Amino acid sequence: MRTYIVGGAVRDELLGLPVQDRDHVVVGATPEQMAELGFRPVGKDFPVFLHPDSHEEYALARTERKSGHGYKGFTVFASPEVTLEEDLLRRDLTINAMARDEQGNLIDPHSGLADIRARILRHVSPAFAEDPVRILRVARFAARFPDFHVASETLELMRSMVSSGEVDHLVPERVWQEFSRGLMSLRPSRMFDVLRECGALARLLPELDRLFGVPQPPEHHPEVDTGVHVMLVVDWSASKGYSLPVRFSALAHDLGKGTTPSELWPKHHGHEARSVELVKEVAQRLRIPSDCRDLALLVARYHGDIHRALELKPETVLKILESTDAFRRPERFTEMLEACESDFRGRPGYENRPYPPFDFFLSALARCQAVDTAFIAVENLGNEKNAVHQARLTALKTPIKLA
Ligand code: ATP
Ligand code: MG
Repeated sequence: MRTYIVGGAVRDELLGLPVQDRDHVVVGATPEQMAELGFRPVGKDFPVFLHPDSHEEYALARTERKSGHGYKGFTVFASPEVTLEEDLLRRDLTINAMARDEQGNLIDPHSGLADIRARILRHVSPAFAEDPVRILRVARFAARFPDFHVASETLELMRSMVSSGEVDHLVPERVWQEFSRGLMSLRPSRMFDVLRECGALARLLPELDRLFGVPQPPEHHPEVDTGVHVMLVVDWSASKGYSLPVRFSALAHDLGKGTTPSELWPKHHGHEARSVELVKEVAQRLRIPSDCRDLALLVARYHGDIHRALELKPETVLKILESTDAFRRPERFTEMLEACESDFRGRPGYENRPYPPFDFFLSALARCQAVDTAFIAVENLGNEKNAVHQARLTALKTPIKLA
């Protein structure tokens, strides 16, 4: 029995990146032998084991044959006769299809090292087309390694997987899983660029795809269209290391602009309400977790109001704080501001401009939080809510000075 380190760990080490987790392939062993050695079986669909001490994954070498649609439509064949080379052949990209043996030798039958050096994401074999998850994975790797580009023959294959309808067999959970990983990568826009180039974005997230080519209002830097703007916004939020809910909100904040009738362009009157509806639809379709959905709904609804912070009446400021539940959820309110800040900066030349609404709303929230609600409630039994509201309003009436 021989074991090899494979996949991401080999790739990341060659890229000089920290190795997250190491996957191993075992050649020449049976499940029974693995169990005897103390490995714990964990695979449902194919034989994978956890090492008794390191808890790293050891998978028996296997081949796969397509037997249906989607990523579950595979017949897996694992046996001691399957070679390392056969196992590497079933992998998605050449940079992910390298192995290291126990002596540290690189085994690279598909020239993954050359593609790492040339910064190319290239499929290993035509079998790539059998699993639509691979489209998402390529797009996600593009977001994670922004200086890599997709080989033209791979893009061609991805296009054919879209036109054949294979991409429509992706399950929503898997789409969101890959989207969320891509959003948490270095440059999320690359994922959407790649999905757009192969036509998959129109199938998976048509609400976003539609924003490309839609003009922005004149006061919003009309030299970039709404889709490009949204990409800049998401990348900005990533560059700040913001959370997944913030990045998803950045992605979704302007979806309503995609349904403005073109006669009304470049204005988008009422797009906030339409964005809210579309966020609900997308969240339901892709089973998006509630923290991401809820923040995106708030950002879609309120980003325009937040941008106008300095022009708002104290009544309106308080209304925004109340309707966003800022007193009970101050961290979420800060995340809202982070998404709004990203929206503001996602325009050419705005990267370093001051964004006063951020500090303005934080100061407004702090003012209101300083109001002694317990004391006011005791003094105004039966009318507590209104009394607290009035006291907060009074607190907001002294002008807020920003540094
Ligand atoms: P990460 O650092 O994100 O874990 P990874 O390349 O290790 O990246 P994994 O999902 O851990 O990705 O998968 C491990 C390896 O298994 C990959 O490097 C690749 O060789 C192979 N692989 C994973 N998913 C697929 C797939 N859908 N199709 C083909 N090969 C795959
Ligand atoms: Mg991995």
